[in-house]
This record gives sequence, structure tokens and C-alpha cells, in this order.
Amino acid sequence: MQAVFDGHNDVLLRLWQHARGGADPVAEFSEGTDKGHIDAARAKAGGLAGGLCAIYVPSGDLVLKTPDENGHYATPMAAPLDHLPSLATAMELADIAFKLDRAGAWRLCRSVEEIRAAMADEVFAAVLHMEGCEAIGPDLAALETFHAAGLRSLGPVWSRHNVFGHGVPFAYPMSPDTGPGLTEAGFELVRACNRLGILIDLAHITEKGFWDVAKTTDQPLVASHSNVHALTPVARNLTDRQLDAIRESRGLVGLNYATTMLRPDGQENAATQLSDMVRHVAYLVERMGIDCVALGSDFDGATIPEEIADAAGNQKLVAALEDAGYGDAELAKICRENWLRVLGQAWHEPA
Ligand SMILES: [Zn+2]
Repeated sequence: MQAVFDGHNDVLLRLWQHARGGADPVAEFSEGTDKGHIDAARAKAGGLAGGLCAIYVPSGDLVLKTPDENGHYATPMAAPLDHLPSLATAMELADIAFKLDRAGAWRLCRSVEEIRAAMADEVFAAVLHMEGCEAIGPDLAALETFHAAGLRSLGPVWSRHNVFGHGVPFAYPMSPDTGPGLTEAGFELVRACNRLGILIDLAHITEKGFWDVAKTTDQPLVASHSNVHALTPVARNLTDRQLDAIRESRGLVGLNYATTMLRPDGQENAATQLSDMVRHVAYLVERMGIDCVALGSDFDGATIPEEIADAAGNQKLVAALEDAGYGDAELAKICRENWLRVLGQAWHEPA
């Protein structure tokens, strides 16, 4: 079994939603549930040894716009969120992460060494990520506090606009060049992340925003959960030019399991085949090399192929990649080593 360190999940969002309905998030994670994708037992069964866990302030349930007769759709952008209510929600999601850590249900990790130690101890290695930074505030007033609490990765925007920049809509077919890039506050956020050692994630940002980050950051370029635009032309996927820039920076792309981002037709359909996932990985490897390809499942955040179903099915993808000809050393890079290298670099750790 290849241990997987995965670049993106929304398990904190699911636990937070259920906690609001009265459930105990620690029990739901450690004792297991049939809901969603990740809990301790299913993670262990699927070799999901750890990952970036998103603090994401929801815009309500996103429902894709019904495709027209050509299969095209353009879901309207979610409305912008205010800072203070976003901060309150972000604190509640973070609180659950700390409760899980205190209870030993998972371990919050702030360095690659801590990630490797948790993986060796077979405790889920969680790294805090923020997906859309409405909670940080335009003057970055909450950034130091979140960093001190363990935040080690952030995406300036989700698929909605905020004071830092602009996100792409969920739309097919559509270029990722859908609007402006970073604002002045967005550039300041990137520079602050460079100083503090917080990874900047390019998933969800417009193509202009991507280039704004690329010309500003001193980190490898990373899209934690995005796929290939040439294969599935949704606005969330990456063009060849973007992939080339990621390769030049020795960054990475984490394969997103969302069926809308894997299928040639961009549809939300759980009957999506593993071969669609393998095709995206093969394209990424061909374009960027084996050192720049990783996983970013979007477990608990998307409709994924039914063959995988949840974290317990994660090794089915690994097996499919093995069948496609990837050897152990290549699979180790895809499954965890590329993520650990890039995180160490963004966190100013010695190579
Ligand atoms: Zn996302």
C-alpha cells in the first residue's frame, strides 16, 4: 500500500455542518460514520495517511446549473462574504481541528518532520489550509494568529470574489481567464505568506490571478486540487501554459477527484471511470514530469467516482496507476513525496 498525503479535503466542513446539527465531531471522525468521505477508519483502510484540511466558509450548497442541450453550463458566481461572519465561521472550523488533535483523533502538523512522524505512528497527519481568505481581513489582521495556530497553506480566493482577488466560476466549457487577478491586498497577502512560510494555493483563482501570484511569490507554484484544461475544459482546470509555469517552478498539481473536472463532458456523474483519472495523471506527468504531479482528492467537497466512493477506496486509484505502468518510486512521488518536498520548501525548511 502506498501511503497518501493528499492535497485537499473538506472534512472539517462536513464535521462543522454536522456539529451544528448536534453531532460530536470527534466521535464522528474517530468512531466513523457512513456519511461523507473521510473518517479515521476509512482513511486508514485507504492508506490516506494525511492531508491538507480546508477551513472553508461555505456559500451555501453549490448546485451546478443544469447543462443546456450542448452540455454547456455556467453556474453563477457565489456572492462575496463579509469579513467578520467569515472569521467567526473559520474559528469554529479551526476549533474542530484542535478538538480532534487534543483527542488524538488526528495530529495537527506544522512541519514535514511532524507529518512524517504522524504517518509513521499511523495517526492522520492534518495540515491546516484556508480556502478563500475572507476570514483574514483586508489588512491581514488575523493572519499571524492563524499562522500561530498552525495554518500552513491558503488559497487567497475560492470561486467567489473577495478583497484579495477573483475566483473562477464552475462552468463548462470555459477558459480560466474569467476576470481580474490579485488586488493590492492580494499582493500583500502573497508577500506576507512568503515571509511567514505559508504555502499559496492557486486552485480556484483566475488565470490573471495565477500569473500575479507567479510573478510575486518565491515559492513553487501549487494548484492543490485542479486538473487538465486540455482534457476537461472547465474554468477550474489548468491550461498548458499554466502547467508549464508550474513545472518551471518545480511546483505541483494535485489531481482533483471531482467528476466535473475529470470527465471530457464536465458533467457531475459518479459513474466516472478510473481511466479518466489515469488520463489526467498521464497528461500531467507528460507535460510537467513525475516530480510535479500529486493528489488533491477533494474528499468531502465534491462528487467523486463511485468506484472510489470514499477514502477507503483511495488505493483503487493507486492500483489503476500501477496498472498504467507507474513503478513504486514514481507512485511514492505522486502519493506523498512531491507534496512533502513542496511544503518543506514553502515552509523554509532545509531540503
Ligand atoms: Zn476547492
